[in-house]
Amino acid sequence: LIELKNIYKKFGDIVAINNVNLKLYKGEKLAIIGPSGSGKSTLLRTINFLEQIDKGQIFFEGKEVGYIYKKGKRILDKPKKICALRAEIGMVFQHFHLFPHMTVLENVMEGPKTVRKKTKEEAKAIALDMLAKMGLLDKKNVYPACLSGGQKQRVAIARALAMKPKLMLFDEPTSALDPELVGEVFEAIKKLAQEGMTMIIVTHQMGFAREMADRVIFMENGSFLVEAKSKEFFSSKASNSRIKTFLQKIL
Ligand code: ATP
Ligand code: MG
Repeated sequence: LIELKNIYKKFGDIVAINNVNLKLYKGEKLAIIGPSGSGKSTLLRTINFLEQIDKGQIFFEGKEVGYIYKKGKRILDKPKKICALRAEIGMVFQHFHLFPHMTVLENVMEGPKTVRKKTKEEAKAIALDMLAKMGLLDKKNVYPACLSGGQKQRVAIARALAMKPKLMLFDEPTSALDPELVGEVFEAIKKLAQEGMTMIIVTHQMGFAREMADRVIFMENGSFLVEAKSKEFFSSKASNSRIKTFLQKIL
């Protein structure tokens, strides 16, 4: 579904992404873990073109996306093309980012209405469908400020899903939540996984990564230090000493 080839991204002198290669197939669930500052968020953001890469190529469904070439120079593709691609990729952040002046229902309707050009009725039907999936129908007329963190995050997921994305990116979706609210968001994401959604999840919760992911990548200093099947990654035999230390610190 998506392929990254030799991706580099610098912020000034900091190399945030250092020669990353990644292939993600349809239906795959990938967890990315690693210490703070290792480039996990930046990587997700480059996939979505919220961040421009300095070098490398991104392919979506086999076609190179995001950049065009003129006289050997690479420039960012037209905003319209970038938006079209972004519409295929749902993203959920640590801090929800809901529209505060809209009700839950309006938040979820917004994408289908403005980006997918659905009629109001169609958008509403889609939104209600997604809210039902996230167990939030009873909150549809409420404003985000009145919701718990877990509910807000489920609205954010419903809103992303309303765009019918082909890929979902989660950047620490539970790390801003009180511990007792983590479970409901996990369950919501797990449900999506079981329905076959392709997803990349950045998380510090190893239990979640272990349960959800087919594959785990450990990032450090902008590179993939280890990439392994989930089972192998968490089996003590396989993990290298750097990862052992990391896991011990975090668990
Ligand atoms: P965390 O676990 O804390 O979320 P992360 O793995 O997501 O960390 P990134 O946010 O991707 O890490 O950051 C990677 C590196 O790039 C860090 O050194 C960070 O300081 C730097 N960086 C990220 N965004 C910017 C930016 N907009 N401007 C300058 N430097 C940035
Ligand atoms: Mg981050």
